[in-house]
Amino acid sequence: MPVMTEEEYGAFRKMRDAGALIPIEEERLPRSGWAKIMCGDGDDTPPIIAAYKSLAQRVNGEDTCTHPITVEGGPAAGCSASAFHRLSFKGSEIVRFDEFIWGRLEGILKIKTSERVKNVAYMPHCKCGMCRETGTSIWTNFLHTGLFKDQTRAVFPKMFQNHKILPFFNLTGYPEADDPMGPHQLWLLRRIEFERLAEKQNV
Ligand SMILES: [Zn+2]
Repeated sequence: MPVMTEEEYGAFRKMRDAGALIPIEEERLPRSGWAKIMCGDGDDTPPIIAAYKSLAQRVNGEDTCTHPITVEGGPAAGCSASAFHRLSFKGSEIVRFDEFIWGRLEGILKIKTSERVKNVAYMPHCKCGMCRETGTSIWTNFLHTGLFKDQTRAVFPKMFQNHKILPFFNLTGYPEADDPMGPHQLWLLRRIEFERLAEKQNV
């Protein structure tokens, strides 16, 4: 039984075929550690953390520090245009996720020191329960992730070496699930190719 809808899977195929998504294994991973802004999804996020950790170990030949920052909906929550940008409790707003994530990054820089965490990964995923709940398409999810990445880079000038968008997909039920990469797959989003493609979609 597929986890992603046919529409979501179609979007994944379009991005991959246009070169907007490339398998992460083709990229050389930095040896330094990552802060990873990701969804708190209990089904998809834990296997991705494990898969990424073993991939980094295989490529780098050593363990790589991972510091997850989880927010329901993932990194797009940091974008003020996102439908899940604000967290409320009993009807009152208690936090905006841009400030929440930036506060966490500031904390990471203090406790992990720049030697251990030098990179920030923005990891939107599909299927995302929060995106479905709020009617946020995969295209909008990734576009908002890109906007938040730009803002974050400006808020922390030169404080991190790399800012990368690394989406992940649960391809259970589709042919790619039989790939050696398995149903939970890691990709790098190429921004220019993605935005060119997103412009043509009705998002
Ligand atoms: Zn999610």
